[in-house]
Amino acid sequence: MNDQSSQLAKWLLQSKCTVAFTGAGISTESGIPDFRSPGGVWAKYQPVYYDAFMSSRQSREEYWRQKCEAHPGMANASPNHGHNVLAEWGSKKLLAAVITQNIDGLHQESGSPHVLELHGTARKIQCQDCEIQSTVEEADQYVAGFLQTGKVPDCPKCGSDRMKHATISFGQMLPHETRKEAEQLALLSDLFIALGSSLVVTPAADLPRLAKARDAKLVIINREPTPLDSLADLIVRDSIGEFLKNVNQRLANPPA
Ligand code: NAD
Ligand code: ZN
Repeated sequence: MNDQSSQLAKWLLQSKCTVAFTGAGISTESGIPDFRSPGGVWAKYQPVYYDAFMSSRQSREEYWRQKCEAHPGMANASPNHGHNVLAEWGSKKLLAAVITQNIDGLHQESGSPHVLELHGTARKIQCQDCEIQSTVEEADQYVAGFLQTGKVPDCPKCGSDRMKHATISFGQMLPHETRKEAEQLALLSDLFIALGSSLVVTPAADLPRLAKARDAKLVIINREPTPLDSLADLIVRDSIGEFLKNVNQRLANPPA
């Protein structure tokens, strides 16, 4: 068992408020490519910006083509060991919350009790005009419908064709309340663990900084270096699932 997993286990047991902050890297072990992955959908297409989606029918069609390609991969994925360990820590009150940049819904699916989705969810569809949100099953039906007909769906409530995944698109504002709550959690935390995020965009990069500004311990678990590594109290260059498994073993058998 390596020293890093013992160290994190010790800090978890001592902490009064631990917050986990996750990025696309926690879901690669569930088969969902991360942002930088060369084969990923995100690398293949020009993303459709929010303004273009709202103002042009052609852009909406392009948006639906791209999203329908990514949708089944996310809808059919299952939580992996990393998600499951965080869920277990949440139910044992070792973790106050999971703040995620991911849109795949896998933290909720694994049973994490308190999840903040900074970028929304790709498991549901939302009308941009009346804001009605679909269920997960309805979202799957909308996608199947577009794949059959090539027609952007109409809102069942107001008739608008500005229906999109309930995610934050490029150029779209983050929901104010969720962002505020994430910042408050970062400020309250005494242990802040970033997992599988390149930490290059804000507010991703802001949250660990906020936590550090209040003297929290900062742990970064990521295969590649990040711009915030110099602030970290512990840097782990391991695969997330494997490392969290080791930490869990340490928690089950704490050193005498
Ligand atoms: P990113 O792709 O920029 O960075 C992911 C990091 O995780 C990389 O540095 C990579 O080295 C590391 N990583 C990958 N697999 C790992 C593993 N098994 N163990 C340890 N480290 C691993 O991701 P980001 O910082 O989250 O930013 C990407 C943006 O794209 C986010 O805003 C997110 O909403 C979106 N996105 C989401 C998903 C998803 O929901 N699953 C997938 C792709 C992109
Ligand atoms: Zn509507």
